[in-house]
Order: sequence, then structure tokens, then C-alpha cells
Amino acid sequence: MKVYRDISLKAYNTFGIAVKTQRLVVMEDDDDVALAPILINRHSLVLGAGSDTVFTRDFDGTVVTFSNEKADGQTIKQSGNQLTVWAGMKMDDLVQWTLDHGLYGLENLSAIPGTVGAAVVQNVGAYGAEAKDTVVSVEVIDLYTGDIRTYTGEECRFGYRTSRFKEETAVRELVVYVTFALKDTYVPNLSYKALEGLPHESAQQMRDAITALRWTKLPRPEEHGSAGSFFKNPVVDETTYMRLKSEYPGMPEAHKVNARDYKLSAGWLIDKAGWKGKTMGRVGVWPENALVLYNLGGCTGDEVVALANAIQADVEQKFGIALSPEAIII
Ligand SMILES: Cc1cc2nc3c(=O)[nH]c(=O)nc-3n(C[C@H](O)[C@H](O)[C@H](O)COP(=O)(O)OP(=O)(O)OC[C@H]3O[C@@H](n4cnc5c(N)ncnc54)[C@H](O)[C@@H]3O)c2cc1C
Repeated sequence: MKVYRDISLKAYNTFGIAVKTQRLVVMEDDDDVALAPILINRHSLVLGAGSDTVFTRDFDGTVVTFSNEKADGQTIKQSGNQLTVWAGMKMDDLVQWTLDHGLYGLENLSAIPGTVGAAVVQNVGAYGAEAKDTVVSVEVIDLYTGDIRTYTGEECRFGYRTSRFKEETAVRELVVYVTFALKDTYVPNLSYKALEGLPHESAQQMRDAITALRWTKLPRPEEHGSAGSFFKNPVVDETTYMRLKSEYPGMPEAHKVNARDYKLSAGWLIDKAGWKGKTMGRVGVWPENALVLYNLGGCTGDEVVALANAIQADVEQKFGIALSPEAIII
């Protein structure tokens, strides 16, 4: 375990916001995890790679994170088509590892920043795939009791960018391992419209094509900080969708999520409201993708929140739609 005191978190969040914490604990193996209930209390914060987190203040307490590689070399344990993966591993490294070892099912999640642990907390998704499609179980440690528990995929209550692990406001359960069930035959998942025409003969081709496509729409982290899509796509009932469709015939087709609800494109609403490419203070709306807020250099979390609030108010006023952030604001 590594412990740092009074340290900047700038390198620990992809927005690059320069806040500090009193104590940063990096867990490196199972012995460290066993100590977690002593080290972490309900005022602590669990952090993966900070790629969905926006800090608005110094963190007055302990921030807990995981090393990317487990100190004992057991970052991935394989049993046939099932992989049990250390929560700190980078999700994108796992995707490449699976392809290198002839296992398939994660390729559409290529180039999503962040850790395996957070990927299940957030139920990350892209290009017609979500973490929940391949997760069979999640092992957690209960920070109040020290108990180790394993939840099946169903018990994780996965939803759109959410899971049971986001239901409690205080940190209660720490995700330590995630078990994925993968396939040993590659069957391309081309369900997402934007994938039409992309090379997909092999899973590696699919991964490379998706990675290249993503970086045409997202700021590269080494150039501009961001949290990826800042807002969730709003889910509305059929009446609301039909009203908007008749008012804005050019609106993209919504995705039907169940018998009565439709998922709209938040990016389209923000763009239509005129925000694409706009800046406010040291934060901007990415010119290629209105869903992404980015750091123009040295921004604070308050500046990010101010721009997000302005967008939310404007979209609500123009379309009657409430946008909610996907990013977690601390
Ligand atoms: C450029 C860019 C592109 C992105 N594209 C996508 C995309 O296509 N699809 C998508 O879904 N997301 C996307 N994201 C968002 C982000 O990558 C995901 O949400 C990712 O899962 C966050 O991982 P992280 O480790 O950085 O999580 P963090 O931001 O560190 O944490 C996220 C949440 O998970 C909790 N958490 C983290 N680890 C654990 C743990 N081990 N146990 C319990 N709780 C934990 C944290 O407390 C926090 O509440 C993008 C982000 C960026 C910057």
C-alpha cells in the first residue's frame, strides 16, 4: 500500500482539476483491501482513474484508489472463458488483453478511459455494448463490516450508466474484483448504427476502428481535460418525444428503451440550443461533440459546474427537458 499526504489530485482526474487531498491511499493487493475498512470511513472517497469525476473543492479526508497492476502479479485470473480482474486495471488494457488471448465481447468498449472497478459502478457503454453484457459477478468488500460479498450480474442492478454501487450516497462497498464471461469465437456486434461500414473482419480491426472513430469526437486527454460525455441522454415518455419530433422534424430518431420511454440525444439538444463550441471562463463545449465539456487550461470545478448549469437551464427553457450530469461532481 502506498500512502501520500497533502497531495494534488490533478493527475488523478482526467479533467485535470488541481485540488488537493489530505491523504491518498493506493491499494496494491488483497492484504491492503483487507485493511480498507480500517482506513476508509464514510467521509472517504473511492477513485478509479477520475475520468468521470469533477472536483469542485479540496478533498478533506482520505481518497482511496487501486494500483493498475496487482502487486502479486494476479491482476487477471483466467478460468476458461471467464476472467476475474482486479478493480484497478485500466479497462482499455483489459480489452486489448482479451483480444491478445482470443477472448471476445469487450471490443466495442475500446478506448473508454478508467478502471475495471468503475466500469461496473458506472455500467460503461459505447457502440452498442455495455459492461453489464459480459459481467457475471462482482466481488466487493463491505467497508462497515469487513465482509466480502459477491453479487451476480443481476444483483448488480445495472441500468443506464448506473448500478447498485451508485445507490448509496456514502461509500459502503468497494468493488475489488469483476468477473467477465467472454466468448472464444468472434461475432462482431454491429448493432450500433455508426459502426456501419467500419472494418470489422477481426476483433482487433473492430477495436482499432472504434478507437479511431472515438478520437474524432472526443478531446484527447493529453491535450484537453474532460470527463467524456458530461450529460446523460435524457429518457422521456412517448408524448414528450412526439411533441419534440413535431416541433423539430430534423431531430435524430430516439432510441426506444421500453414500451413507453425513449432516449433522446442530449448532444443534439445542446447543439440545437447553440452551445457547441461555446466557452465560459476556462471551460468549453467541445466543437465536435456538444455532449463534452472540456478544460481550456487551468479550469476549476466551479467553472465546469457553472457552464453545466447554464446549459441545463437553457435546454430546459427551450425544450422542456431536464438534463442530468453523467459525471460525478464532488
Ligand atoms: C475522453 C473520455 C471518454 C469517455 N467515454 C465514455 C464512454 O464512451 N462510455 C462511458 O460509459 N463512459 C465514458 N467516459 C466516462 C468514464 O470513462 C467512465 O465512467 C469510467 O468508468 C470511469 O472510470 P474511472 O476509473 O475513471 O472512475 P472514477 O471517475 O474514478 O469513479 C467513477 C465512480 O466510480 C466509483 N468507483 C471507482 N472505483 C470504484 C471501486 N473500485 N469501488 C467502488 N466504487 C468505485 C467512484 O467513487 C465514482 O463514484 C469517458 C470519459 C472520458 C474522459
